[in-house]
Amino acid sequence: MEPLLGKTLSELQDIALSVGLPKFAGKQLAQWLYVQRVTSFDQMTNISLKGRQALQASYSIGRSTPVREAISIDGTRKYLFPVFSSLEGRSGGVSEAGRFVESVYIPEDDRATLCISTQVGCQMGCKFCMTGTLGFHGNLTATDILNQVFEISQKSMANNQQPLTNLVLMGEGEPMNNLDEVLRALEILTADYGCGWSPKRITVSTVGISAMKRFIEESDCHLAVSLHNPFPAERAAIMPAERMFSITDVVALLKQYDWTHQRRISFEYICFSGQNDTPRHAKELLRLLKGLPCRINLIRFHEGEQSSKRETSNLQIFKSSNIITMEWLRDYLTAHGLTTTIRKSRGEDILAACGMLVAQQ
Ligand code: SF4
Repeated sequence: MEPLLGKTLSELQDIALSVGLPKFAGKQLAQWLYVQRVTSFDQMTNISLKGRQALQASYSIGRSTPVREAISIDGTRKYLFPVFSSLEGRSGGVSEAGRFVESVYIPEDDRATLCISTQVGCQMGCKFCMTGTLGFHGNLTATDILNQVFEISQKSMANNQQPLTNLVLMGEGEPMNNLDEVLRALEILTADYGCGWSPKRITVSTVGISAMKRFIEESDCHLAVSLHNPFPAERAAIMPAERMFSITDVVALLKQYDWTHQRRISFEYICFSGQNDTPRHAKELLRLLKGLPCRINLIRFHEGEQSSKRETSNLQIFKSSNIITMEWLRDYLTAHGLTTTIRKSRGEDILAACGMLVAQQ
């Protein structure tokens, strides 16, 4: 049955009319789904019983609970969600049934960030990323994207944890490769008829593909670009996407837009010992990003578990930069006018840190 979660206001109005309800019932449905976040039709008390029965005959709500939760010693929580291929017929390719995706809840002092997935596996094949080794198994629908937010938001409230303050689309998948469903989910998250979130609390990541132009023009959310090496040839060796759309083209495209106001552009930079953390790379980063108001987040590469998995799967072994080198890189870039921070690693013990999501049941 087709889920209502993930429908825009105008679609809900059409659905209301199609089951014999007045058009304004579409707004009521949006309220129940996105504000009250109900999980059954019975809870929609201002919709007539006949209307609810008619809806139930053709539609589901579209919510599904995570099947597993892992808790890190640092409070990070990782959730495993089943993926439903219940949207046959929707363009863009649905996901295979029987697959799972992961989401990560990261509490901090006065905030909590949720990292969600947008695809099952990933097509981009970044060599350092465990998700990239999964291959690609389909696009998540807006239903599955929103479900991660709603379920974890509800769980954090029920557990008396910090409520969600920020959302990052940095889990499994390349969001720009599933842009229709991502934009649909973002509309519902930020619309007045939907969840009313500020787009300034949402960051969408990309390796940098040409579809990002549409995202920049159709969304107000922040953008984070996975950079990892400023030299195209070296970047291509670890990120195959570089060959389709070079980082020089990515930066040239970004420079065409205004990032001086509320909207933020940041670059993610995983530090690999000797591979991208040298003075040569630092100077090239400054040259590449000159004139673009942005920040760089340095991220430690998570070796641990991955090394053994990489050895057994014959994958390239990467070594993390040490903290002294990372601090040098941060200070050098900052001293030359490029705001740079070292991102704290979270949830490494439960394989929830950056690049570790493999959605195993
Ligand atoms: S780093 Fe991101 S884009 Fe690259 S393979 Fe992993 S999930 Fe895909």
